Amino acid sequence: ACTAETLAAALRAAAAVIAGHRAELIELDRAIGDADHGENMDRGFTAIVSALDTAIPETPAAVVKLAATTLISKVGGAAGPLYGTAFLRASGKLGDAAEVDGPLLVEALRAALEGVQARGKAVGGDATMVDALIPAVSAAEEASGSGIAAILSAAADAADKGAESTVDLVPRKGRASYLGERAKGHMDPGARSTALLLRAFAEAAK
Ligand code: ADP
Ligand code: MG
Ligand code: MG
Repeated sequence: ACTAETLAAALRAAAAVIAGHRAELIELDRAIGDADHGENMDRGFTAIVSALDTAIPETPAAVVKLAATTLISKVGGAAGPLYGTAFLRASGKLGDAAEVDGPLLVEALRAALEGVQARGKAVGGDATMVDALIPAVSAAEEASGSGIAAILSAAADAADKGAESTVDLVPRKGRASYLGERAKGHMDPGARSTALLLRAFAEAAK
């Protein structure tokens, strides 16, 4: 079951994955941005782990909200507010449920995507994290009758492909867009971190 406790454990697992990919995310961002995406994400998720060490909130919604407010307050740049909004919108969908089931998880993922798009105005094909999230949410919706682990693993598979697709795109949002055509041939760092997070959640749900 997906409870406040298991969600907290999933966030800890995600923090470990982000820490392990810090250098990779920095290198991706060095190619088309300012080389701080790995640092930004690691700082944010390390702060989430610290907050969870203090106390695990009582409901899944409160755990996800704690992640959101931590990211918003600790991570500058584009990704902090975008991921923060994603978690905040997801938290809003969870209400006061003590356990998250498949359909509720899918609704939360959809809300996260909508939050990112409302905040950042990126559409599919702009070479951002949205290119990982759109296929992930579609795949999750198709798998919504399955269990949490299967939904997240379908979402992670789709996010991997979506992140891969950004290599051939010309960025139209964020810092990478300043490079125009020259940014082609590089994976978007935020799309990669989205895929990493979904994979970490999928593994944690197994
Ligand atoms: P910054 O660009 O401010 O240094 P980061 O390097 O942490 O912030 O994050 C960059 C990532 O943020 C990009 O790779 C992209 O995925 C994402 N991003 C930037 N702008 C937008 C936007 N408007 N909509 C969606 N995602 C965006
Ligand atoms: Mg950057
Ligand atoms: Mg920056």
